[in-house]
Amino acid sequence: MSGMTFVISAPSGTGKTTVCQNLIKQDDKLRFSVSHTTRKPRLDEMDRVDYHFVDEVEFNRLVAEEAFLESARYAGNLYGTSFAAIRGTLEAGRDIMLEIEVQGAQLIRNRKFEAVFIFLLPPSMEILEQRLRDRGTDTEELIKQRLSEGNAEITMAKIFDYAVINDKLLNTVEQVQEIICAERTGEIKDVRARFGVAKVLENWLRLVE
Ligand code: 5GP
Repeated sequence: MSGMTFVISAPSGTGKTTVCQNLIKQDDKLRFSVSHTTRKPRLDEMDRVDYHFVDEVEFNRLVAEEAFLESARYAGNLYGTSFAAIRGTLEAGRDIMLEIEVQGAQLIRNRKFEAVFIFLLPPSMEILEQRLRDRGTDTEELIKQRLSEGNAEITMAKIFDYAVINDKLLNTVEQVQEIICAERTGEIKDVRARFGVAKVLENWLRLVE
């Protein structure tokens, strides 16, 4: 496989889907990995475009077949990246972007699968809660669940290579693109200094406390 893999995670509601969609739009070499999930489709979602929507039986069959690079349970549903979703792109020399939650990212790290790990942080936990409510797709119970999982995810952010605070969409897209470009050329000194996870997390924690 010759393309590069970029893993992007963030607490649900941080806006990572929008960031990823913008990146894909502006970067010809980057493709989006379509995951499998047992979650029901939202109104605007299409099978095989946003996700492969499957039931638990089918999902577990794929797990048993070792079809997944990683899979995880999140907010009551199963999600997974299949090898089939990424192989063709990587073999064609294109780069692939995985928009996944943190446990999945950790599994990919543990497997020693070569990838660049980028974590998006919300400007604050209050803004994260507001964004989840504004989205209007989830029940109160689900919002609470997503917020508590979001907190847990932020404590795991340190396993990532880079972190970017998603304050203004266009800035965030530009900054993630800078990281991607630097990783492609191997000239990462500057982006490591600006977006290295330890430093960004330290600043963010100071900001939200
Ligand atoms: P949603 O239900 O809002 O589409 O996604 C819930 C969470 O699951 C998000 O954090 C999303 O990034 C993550 N997710 C989507 N696909 C995958 C996947 O293939 N594997 C893992 N581990 N998480 C995923």
